[in-house]
Amino acid sequence: MLPSVDELLRHREVLPLVECEGRPVVTEAARRVLDRLRQQIADGLLDEDRLGLALANVAAAIERQLREDLTFSLVPVINATGVVLHTNLGRAPLPEAAIERLRQVATGYSNLEFDIASGERGKRDIHADRLFRRLFQSLAEPVSTVVVNNNAAAVLLLLNTLGEGGEVIVSRGELVEIGGSFRIPDVMSKSGATLREVGTTNRTRIADYERAINERTRLLLRVHRSNFEIVGFTEQPSLSDLVDLGRAHGIPVVEDLGSGALFDLHQIGISGETTVHDSLRSGAGVVTYSGDKLLGGPQAGILTGHPDLIARVRANPLFRALRVDKLTYGVLEATLLAYISQQYDNIPAVRMMRLSPLDIAARAEALAGSVRRQAPRIAVEVVAVSSVVGGGSAPGATLPSFALALTCEGISAGDFSRRLRQVEPPIVARVEEGRVLLDLRTVFPEQDQLILQALARISSASS
Ligand SMILES: *Cc1c(COP(=O)(O)O)cnc(C)c1O
Repeated sequence: MLPSVDELLRHREVLPLVECEGRPVVTEAARRVLDRLRQQIADGLLDEDRLGLALANVAAAIERQLREDLTFSLVPVINATGVVLHTNLGRAPLPEAAIERLRQVATGYSNLEFDIASGERGKRDIHADRLFRRLFQSLAEPVSTVVVNNNAAAVLLLLNTLGEGGEVIVSRGELVEIGGSFRIPDVMSKSGATLREVGTTNRTRIADYERAINERTRLLLRVHRSNFEIVGFTEQPSLSDLVDLGRAHGIPVVEDLGSGALFDLHQIGISGETTVHDSLRSGAGVVTYSGDKLLGGPQAGILTGHPDLIARVRANPLFRALRVDKLTYGVLEATLLAYISQQYDNIPAVRMMRLSPLDIAARAEALAGSVRRQAPRIAVEVVAVSSVVGGGSAPGATLPSFALALTCEGISAGDFSRRLRQVEPPIVARVEEGRVLLDLRTVFPEQDQLILQALARISSASS
């Protein structure tokens, strides 16, 4: 009773699929559906009646198979966790202008490595360097910048360029591990430099660094404690003290800032996070930071510093291996231009961090009202919560925010949050004390409606 693949492709309801998606994928889907039916017959699961029924619906089965075959794995989600830079959710959402730029630059040819004025070969690193120079023009000394794949690559490249074959001194309180198995000692060993630990976990003094300096010392490395704090009986020399020590011995001091804010976080009530400007002003020879953390742009690792040191980095063959493509330059340029024109709210991550709690509360109340009307089995309350910046920035700092706290009749908070992840687009929430929390700081306002629809659906399904 099974039709052939050819017969299926001529089926009245399958023909439009062939026209729309092309013959090869529909053929493949039809073959899979037939294979499945054949297997079910062999397993004795389909008698003649059941097979007849299955064949009556075969076009729908092929269409389902086709949809499954052609789905994306990387899909948008709604981030209701309140973590602005969530590494598992793709860190910084990109500025609209950056995507428009990307469309123009990346769908055709560009002057990525071409000097339009001379008609000669150019360098790809000048595109971002030009804008970083402007951003840092208030510094006493000019700086250069190069861009690589991510900050882990930037640190590896820097240690390899300036430290290979010698020793790099780091405080024991800064031998950090960032999520995704980036560990300073491991990166150090891959760079070919030898780690020279000084001080203790909680206290390191300038004298500890000084005693460790010898003829093999190439670098003093400072690493930002991105995702933890050491509190209590602690001591750490200031970056300027380290720079003075380095100068006295002719050894550069470099800082892995991790997040590397380009704007003053005091504006949004976060203190204790140094900006890239701060670090360079204190005399760091090179600073490394991510493009998709506080900067709010594409995944990238950025090295900014003294032109001579950056020139050495650029000359390292590893730089070629870690370089970024036109997509990254396009998005990075557009993001940096928003900083230069001080249109911070055009950068979604920065805008979210700057949202006022009162505005978030007003949105939460409005959404809660609609939920009460349209999702009667869901109990909702607006509660004060703390959003976190995330992405290895300001570990102890939180931003006051408001969330919907939800429970649904008949299902646990865990089940409820699972159902929220099964809607489209999936909604990622936090569960706390038996309730599902949706922090609206990280939800785009145009997504409030999607959340409402999802809750209404879950409410009616639970009845
Ligand atoms: C995040 C971070 C890194 C790694 O940066 P990626 O861009 O994720 O590769 C390295 N060092 C520090 C201190 C960080 O915070």
